Amino acid sequence: SLTGKNLHLAFGSNKVLRGIDIHVEKGTAASVIGPSGSGKSTLLRVMNRLIEPDQGDILLDGRSVLKDNPDELRRRIGMVFQQFNLFPHKSVGENVAFALRKLRKLPKDQAWAEALEQLDKVGLKHKAGVRPATLSGGQQQRVAIARALAMKPEVMFFDEATSALDPELVKGVLALMSDLAKDGMTMVVVTHEMGFSRNVSNQVVFMDGGVVVENGSPEQLFTAPKTERLQKFLSDVL
Ligand code: ATP
Ligand code: MG
Repeated sequence: SLTGKNLHLAFGSNKVLRGIDIHVEKGTAASVIGPSGSGKSTLLRVMNRLIEPDQGDILLDGRSVLKDNPDELRRRIGMVFQQFNLFPHKSVGENVAFALRKLRKLPKDQAWAEALEQLDKVGLKHKAGVRPATLSGGQQQRVAIARALAMKPEVMFFDEATSALDPELVKGVLALMSDLAKDGMTMVVVTHEMGFSRNVSNQVVFMDGGVVVENGSPEQLFTAPKTERLQKFLSDVL
């Protein structure tokens, strides 16, 4: 399980996270929704310690990770961004194999073999030898997902993973994310895709103004929002 406890973060005088409590059970796909600027991306970045919280704690399986090496935590939590962040001068296969050598310390042959295996799972083994720029945005995002999965993470974070894609490419990436959720991957998915939040995720976290305003099942949040803030958000986006 993944837990954020009373997380606070300010950028200067801008208090972006104001005491966030979030708990995602193992095998649960949680979606995080909320207006622009509500702190969703910042929450993900704090929970994998790309930014250190000013206050609060982060626990994996009930154990605080704040004193661990942040690199070790980033191996345990895979992250996929809106921009794919692939290395442009490395081949697709090398983009995945590189991480396996550096972070999981696999020998070269084994890293390459595992990279091909991961690429096969996202349907892109045949693209291992080409540069990322020759792939569509959707294919590049699937490579980024394969690269994150190759670390054998315990949790996967997605931050607007489909927002930069042309509409016709969104489906393939969402399908891959749905498959991961169905396979029982523990996921935290920041998304504007209300279809994914409602129909695929099993927990919905609604953030506004740096706090969790509502948290519960998709059923609860989408059909019976308790707060005016969530009611307004849903009427704006649906
Ligand atoms: P969106 O839906 O638009 O992606 P978000 O919910 O992900 O929004 P964040 O990106 O977490 O929102 O931003 C929350 C607030 O933190 C905003 O006011 C933003 O300007 C501020 N912020 C984010 N990153 C930084 C940074 N590196 N330095 C200073 N302020 C930042
Ligand atoms: Mg964001």
